[in-house]
Amino acid sequence: MMDLIIVGGGPAGMAAAIYAARAKQKLLLITSEFGGQMARKEVEIDNYPGLEKISALDLIARFRRHLTSLQVEVKMAEVFGLKKENDVFEVVAGVEKLAARAVVIATGASPRPAGIPGEKDFLGRGVCYCATCDGPLFARREVAVIGGGNAAFEAAQFLANFAKKVYVLERGSQVAADGANRELLKKTGKAEIIANARILRIEGKNFVQKLVYRDGNNPDNKEIELPVEGVFVKAGNQPASDFLGGLVDLNDRNEIKFNPVDNQTKTSGLFVAGDVSEIKFKQIVVAAGEGAKAAMAAGDYLRNLKL
Ligand SMILES: Cc1cc2nc3c(=O)[nH]c(=O)nc-3n(C[C@H](O)[C@H](O)[C@H](O)COP(=O)(O)OP(=O)(O)OC[C@H]3O[C@@H](n4cnc5c(N)ncnc54)[C@H](O)[C@@H]3O)c2cc1C
Repeated sequence: MMDLIIVGGGPAGMAAAIYAARAKQKLLLITSEFGGQMARKEVEIDNYPGLEKISALDLIARFRRHLTSLQVEVKMAEVFGLKKENDVFEVVAGVEKLAARAVVIATGASPRPAGIPGEKDFLGRGVCYCATCDGPLFARREVAVIGGGNAAFEAAQFLANFAKKVYVLERGSQVAADGANRELLKKTGKAEIIANARILRIEGKNFVQKLVYRDGNNPDNKEIELPVEGVFVKAGNQPASDFLGGLVDLNDRNEIKFNPVDNQTKTSGLFVAGDVSEIKFKQIVVAAGEGAKAAMAAGDYLRNLKL
C-alpha cells in the first residue's frame, strides 16, 4: 500500500513527486513517458524562472535527476482506471492493480491539431501551439492564428506585441471570442480577422512561407495566400481525463474541476495538478507550482487520515 500515487511525468507530476519524496511519503510515480508536452517543444524554453534559456530535453533531464536524487520510485505504464473504496484507491496501471491512500492526477493534455495539410510537416518550423512560448520568435513577421475562440484571440493579442501583422482565421461566419477580447485585439491595430476561412494548406520550404485558404463566401472561390512565417493553431486542447470515471467532475473542455485552494477534486484524497485541470494558464512553471501544491495538500490529507 502506497501513501501516494502520482499519475503523469510532466512538470506537474514530477514537481509533485519531488515535494512528496521530501515529505518522506511512501510514493510511486506512474507515467507513460517523461517530460509530457515539454518533450514536444522544438525550440528552447526561455520562460522557466532561473534558467534563462534551456532546451526541453535538458530541463526534463534536470527534473529527472532531481527525482533520482530523492530515490523516487517510478513505474513506466499507462493508467487506465481508478476506483476508491473505504479510503483506498485502486489504480489500474498496465496489467497491474496498485493501492494508495491518496492520488495526484497530473496527466496533462495535448494540443488538438487542426488537421490542416502541412501542419505536421512544419511543426516547430513555423507551426506552433503555444503563443506565450514561441511568439517572441516571430518579431516583425506576419503570423496567422487558426481559431476564433478566446484562446485564439488571447494568443493573437500576445503575438501582436512582436509580430508585424496577425491574421486570425475563423471557419464560421462569426468568431466565438467574447467582446472584451475582440476589443483588446482591435486596439493592437495589427490584427485582421478573416471569417468563413476554408483553410487549404500550409506551404513552405524549410520553414512556413504561406497559408492558403478560400473565402467560404466568395462565389469565385479563388485560393488566397497569406504570406505568413508562423501559424499558431488554437483548436483547443485534449486533456487526458477520460480514465477517471465518476470520481471527478469535468468542465465542458473535459478539464478536471477542483478546489484551487488545495487542488482536491470532488473525491477526497484525489488531487489534480497542471494542464489536465481547469486551471486557466497552461505553462511549465504553473504546472510545476500546481504539482507542488497538490503534493503538499495530499500530505495534509494523509496526516489527517492517520489521526
Ligand atoms: C509545443 C509546446 C510548446 C510549449 N512551450 C512552452 C514553453 O516554452 N514554456 C512553458 O511554460 N510552457 C510551454 N508549453 C506548455 C507546457 O508544456 C505545459 O503547460 C506543461 O507541460 C503542462 O504540464 P503537465 O505536467 O500538467 O502535463 P504534461 O506536460 O501534458 O504531462 C503529462 C504527463 O502525463 C503522462 N500521462 C498522460 N496520461 C497518462 C496516463 N493515463 N497514464 C500514465 N501517464 C499518463 C504523459 O505521458 C505526460 O508525461 C508548451 C506546450 C507545447 C505543446
